[in-house]
Amino acid sequence: MKPNDEPILLDDALWDELITLTGGEAAACYQCGVCTAICPWGLVKEETFSVRTLIRRAQLGLPGGADVLWLCTTCGECEAYCPRGVDIPNVFRALRGVAWQRREAPEGLPSLLWSNYWNDNPWGQPPSQRMQWAQDLELPLFDPAEHEILYYVGSTAAYDKRAQQIARALVKVFRAAGIAFGVLGVHEPPDGAEILDVGHRRYFAEVAEQSAEVFRTHGVTRLVTTSPHSYDVFKQEYGRFYAALQPLHYTQYLAELLSAGRLHFAKPLARKITFHDPCYLARHNDETVAPRQVLAATLDTELLEMENSGAETLCCGGGGGRMWLETAAGERFSDLRLDEALETGAEVLATACPFCLACLEDSVKARGIEQLQVLDIAEIVALTVAS
Ligand code: SF4
Ligand code: SF4
Repeated sequence: MKPNDEPILLDDALWDELITLTGGEAAACYQCGVCTAICPWGLVKEETFSVRTLIRRAQLGLPGGADVLWLCTTCGECEAYCPRGVDIPNVFRALRGVAWQRREAPEGLPSLLWSNYWNDNPWGQPPSQRMQWAQDLELPLFDPAEHEILYYVGSTAAYDKRAQQIARALVKVFRAAGIAFGVLGVHEPPDGAEILDVGHRRYFAEVAEQSAEVFRTHGVTRLVTTSPHSYDVFKQEYGRFYAALQPLHYTQYLAELLSAGRLHFAKPLARKITFHDPCYLARHNDETVAPRQVLAATLDTELLEMENSGAETLCCGGGGGRMWLETAAGERFSDLRLDEALETGAEVLATACPFCLACLEDSVKARGIEQLQVLDIAEIVALTVAS
């Protein structure tokens, strides 16, 4: 041992806790380092973000390095390549859970949790304003006897001005297709996805249990989400609270409507389009087909594919709670994504997630790129659908 090196003290209790929290996930790692090589932080950071080292620390029951632990966007790219199949995002969530217990969460994240606690949304917005985006739309309260689906708007599409346009576009599309749908309005519960991503599993379980109870009370079964993050958390986590819930992302629902002959288009969009797959659709839920089917129906040209597409998608940088943390200029994955989109010659960069939309559009504005417009698939469908 070098004179100034601190001895490493192993903590059996913490080791047990991490094994419990990760279901033993980290134990399978044999330290090959593929995850470190694959992680997109390696493309934007000068200093290596050693994913492998953090996994090793989890194996040993050592807390994660507080400075780098919160970088992970939970994009899942490393997991897809890990030869041992380690659920690396889940190990990060477990390490973050320990950091919460030690009061080591970074500035910005406690306010996310407090806002969820007081307002039922992570954006610090009053619950009474949840339906302001749809004031003029006269949306009916969900009734299981009358409606085919519940449209689950989600907090970002309810409160963020830009994402509200996705929700308004979807309403237009549902109406054009003659869908009987309702919303829960100001009673819409939070999905808790952000709470889970930042590692506060105990608080997430409380929120999810309460939200599941709201769905149960309103007789909700089929539910269509704006965000892939809502879809993912309902699909992967809510089964233990409310087994009857049948979540779909809206692109999957629109693909269903297409094949049932319920969605028709008046005019194709005569623009060159490429598609950015959201990680929480393409990688976490293997959904790469439905968004492309829907886009293909709106176009009169072939969809242009980027270098990293489908399950190989490159994260926009907005997952894992990163929407609530600063990312330095020059370190944004979305900048890399724009370069890939521009290389295809596309005029429109389509996506299907409010976080992706925000990150990609921020990069377009910051770089003053005029030849590329970022649109959500819902907006493209709304522009082309026959009413
Ligand atoms: S890729 Fe998998 S096995 Fe290799 S170091 Fe990372 S977690 Fe461990
Ligand atoms: S999930 Fe994504 S951001 Fe997190 S360590 Fe893996 S590759 Fe990096």
